[in-house]
Amino acid sequence: MKNIPELFGSMVFNDEVMKERLPKDTYKALKRTIVEGRSLDKSIADVVANAMKDWAIEKGVTHFTHWFQPMTGVTAEKHESFITPDGDRGVIMEFSGKELVKGEPDASSFPSGGLRATFEARGYTAWDPTSYAFIKDDILCIPTAFCSYGGEALDKKTPLLRSMEALNIQAMRILKLFGNTTVRQVSTTVGPEQEYFLIDKDLYKKRKDLVYTGRTLFGATPPKGQELEDHYFGVLRPRVAAFMQELDEELWKLGVYAKTKHNEVAPAQHELAPIFTTTNIASDHNQLTMELMKRIADKHNLACLLHEKPFAGVNGSGKHNNWSMVTDTGLNLFEPGDSPQDNAQFLLFLCAVIKAVDEYQDLLRISAASAGNDHRLGANEAPPAIVSIFLGDELTGILKAIEEGSPYAQKQAEEMKIGVHTLPRFPKDTTDRNRTSPFAFTGNKFEFRMLGSTFSVSGPNIILNTIVAEELAQFADQLENAGNFTDALNILIRDVLKQHNRIIFNGNSYADSWPAEAEKRGLLNLKTTPDALKHFIDEKNITLFTRHKIFTKAELLSRYEILMDNYAKVIDIETKTMVRMLRKNIIPSVCSYIRDLAATAASKQNILRELPCETEKSLITMMSGLLDDLYQYSEELEAVLRKTRTYEDIGTRAAAYAYDVFPAMQKLREAVDKTEIHCAKEYWPYPTYGEMLFSV
Ligand code: ADP
Ligand code: MG
Repeated sequence: MKNIPELFGSMVFNDEVMKERLPKDTYKALKRTIVEGRSLDKSIADVVANAMKDWAIEKGVTHFTHWFQPMTGVTAEKHESFITPDGDRGVIMEFSGKELVKGEPDASSFPSGGLRATFEARGYTAWDPTSYAFIKDDILCIPTAFCSYGGEALDKKTPLLRSMEALNIQAMRILKLFGNTTVRQVSTTVGPEQEYFLIDKDLYKKRKDLVYTGRTLFGATPPKGQELEDHYFGVLRPRVAAFMQELDEELWKLGVYAKTKHNEVAPAQHELAPIFTTTNIASDHNQLTMELMKRIADKHNLACLLHEKPFAGVNGSGKHNNWSMVTDTGLNLFEPGDSPQDNAQFLLFLCAVIKAVDEYQDLLRISAASAGNDHRLGANEAPPAIVSIFLGDELTGILKAIEEGSPYAQKQAEEMKIGVHTLPRFPKDTTDRNRTSPFAFTGNKFEFRMLGSTFSVSGPNIILNTIVAEELAQFADQLENAGNFTDALNILIRDVLKQHNRIIFNGNSYADSWPAEAEKRGLLNLKTTPDALKHFIDEKNITLFTRHKIFTKAELLSRYEILMDNYAKVIDIETKTMVRMLRKNIIPSVCSYIRDLAATAASKQNILRELPCETEKSLITMMSGLLDDLYQYSEELEAVLRKTRTYEDIGTRAAAYAYDVFPAMQKLREAVDKTEIHCAKEYWPYPTYGEMLFSV
């Protein structure tokens, strides 16, 4: 049995290691920089770098890298060794403060939207000292932000850090209004639940679609799928258990609080959830988790699929973003308190979220928009593309009473006055928790469930932090100038509830009636990524992001470009892969089958002219009809693809991929899946769904 407490964080240059290895003054100065978010003094950086290097070398490390999160969706690294000529034909191992604090990777090969044209190609990475350095694969990794030389963000970490700061500033204003003088900082916490599939690696390698696009573009539904519901929380198979154990250990070494693991609803689907932590660290850790999942699966001759919809007809994979706000004194701001004062504060923060989610439904939807996730949102498994909040009947009842100035459900004789009365107690974690809601209050945190499994959690948390910061800013503006704070607070909360109660929906979001009801309420239903993304650069959103200094207008436009372009490229690659698989393997396979059927009939008749060949004839007729369909639909698909590629404007092009190309892909897919069912096994060139889903 391994000593887990000793193992935990053993590959992290964490607080404990710093305390032990840094001179007292340096340690204190570093801590101060971290807390105050200032840049690091050169003399301190040198000492820290040196200690970091010594620690790493003791663990067999020879190289370091700035580890960053460009707009590609995966992390990037550029390895450099510690060696420095010693002036005498030998080398010494060196790592300077300058190398720790700032790196200069070439930015020109990373997506930058329009930014590359306007600004220099060079970029730089800057250490985020709030996220500890760690050793992965014998490389010392320094978590960094990635910017252009002009200071424009080219990554996902920079705006995330900016949004955390924006929320901190506004939340502090509110806490001050409530007379809180001890809190010095408010940050956000995130616990991301991660879903994924594991299949046999040999089968994976035979599926070109999985290799090139991460999902199966063809594949008939197997006779058994998830209908028996026998996989959820089922006993782990030995290979999966071995994988999970190694994954846990490797994550623990990196200081990731991997906590729960279990089988999910679909066959071959699993989930991992860590204990929550500060948002930017949770985001780094989730990136590491996804990377390690892939690598460790490979060692176990498995393939880890992180795509949102690797298999049609069974559940896809999502990521639940559990989010809360916490003070440096350890107070969860979404924890309903016991005193009237605490409750008033809780209600105000709750109202900020309600107003934010209602006013910025579009941005939340955008934060979960991608070609992969379009297969889930709105399908019968994930929340729909409509954003709404679940608060539970109890809390909704209380809010309704406040809004109407009426007593709450006979439990209280008089009208509820915020800041004067305590909230009636309500059960925190009721068992009928609504799992269909895209945004659910779960007692002391919100669970945003729209994210796809491949997503970095940065995107959605940038949005969450920023929209809540905006509402808190508006509240603070109003309350700071109020004569009587309690009266003003009562009016404000009532007004917010009156104006934004349409966003609260406790019913079943999967129900067929919900879209119509949502439309009546005036809620947005942005079905595809291009539909959603075009709102990213709406005037109100540009105002929001620039006001809180999250994105400049140029950065926002560049991100719009990158996301739209990514959507178009993903569908383009999928289309090419589909056509290629069809021409190279599927059509020839069907031809072989037809040829052998014909040969069978011919040889039968050679032996005896009167032998009936009706079965062969009808099989040949059916297969050749299907073959014609395959050919025709692939020609049609290629024609729409050619047309789509001619649209200059990226928004128009992306929309054409969604509304013209995608349906043509679906049409072709249906024909292929039908062909697969009718084709004899030995001719079919690819592993089937049944083989892949039940392979481990
Ligand atoms: P489930 O949603 O599957 O029922 P839980 O509610 O137990 O699971 O928790 C899911 C995730 O929420 C875990 O990663 C947990 O660490 C995280 N979580 C719990 N409290 C908070 C919080 N205050 N802030 C952010 N995440 C939290
Ligand atoms: Mg959950």
